[in-house]
Amino acid sequence: MPLTRGAGAGALALPASLRAEIVAHARESAPHEACGLVAGRGGRATRVIRCANVADDPLRRYVMEPAAVMHALRSVQDAGEESADGVEGEPLAIYHSHVYSGPYPSPTDRAEARWPSSFYILVSVRAEEPEVRAYRIRADHPGSEKTVVEAELTEG
Ligand SMILES: [Zn+2]
Repeated sequence: MPLTRGAGAGALALPASLRAEIVAHARESAPHEACGLVAGRGGRATRVIRCANVADDPLRRYVMEPAAVMHALRSVQDAGEESADGVEGEPLAIYHSHVYSGPYPSPTDRAEARWPSSFYILVSVRAEEPEVRAYRIRADHPGSEKTVVEAELTEG
């Protein structure tokens, strides 16, 4: 899988309290994967919105509950929050957890990524010390294969 850390991926400022909230959600949900949205503005996260994982196999993948996503997006629109690329009404980031593997997007994660304008946060709780990383997952050109680029992650 192409995985580079590069220009154009941008930087995500994730305050320690929100990072802790995502880690807590991941630990509570284990052994299932946890998932949800992160809202924010100007590349800085301001709140975490948990979504239920309704995947058939929540031990290995995630599917955010559609009604929860719709509700979250409405609130993001109402708040005038924006994506990594500054698109208003879109999530700054989508997060999910890995219980048994590291914080790297799986081939399924890459194939099912639907938010090219948002960051993807991966949290791994396989070890005592959680690992959190951020990526952009998108096709460089319409129809081309999606690439994964690691983004800079700061405490904001
Ligand atoms: Zn995954």
